[in-house]
Amino acid sequence: MFNRSQYSGSLRDYLLEQRRYKRSLRDIAGDFGRSVTHADIQRVLKGIYPVDPDKRIALGLPAQVPVDVCPEHGIPHCYDCSKEVVKPKPKTRNRAYKSLYDWPVHLLRAAIENREEL
Ligand SMILES: [Zn+2]
Repeated sequence: MFNRSQYSGSLRDYLLEQRRYKRSLRDIAGDFGRSVTHADIQRVLKGIYPVDPDKRIALGLPAQVPVDVCPEHGIPHCYDCSKEVVKPKPKTRNRAYKSLYDWPVHLLRAAIENREEL
């Protein structure tokens, strides 16, 4: 029989291997320190991994960090999506009067006299 540091496979495979040697859940949990209980071992065997950071460290699992969901895209990003390149809109003329018929006469006269392109 070997301990966890000698076993290169996943935690779950290691625990399954220990169970094949007829070790009890409490006995296996004892290998990981006081923070890990037999119930934690049982859950990991079912594929349910602890969220508690102390238990994760004791079991040799990577840390988990709470991440905010992007309000714009509705998914968590591992980068800052606000810095994504946004194509600038082509400039459009924003005139007060869209149609020639809306122009006041004196402005239309001035535009025609000065050959202002509409
Ligand atoms: Zn986003």
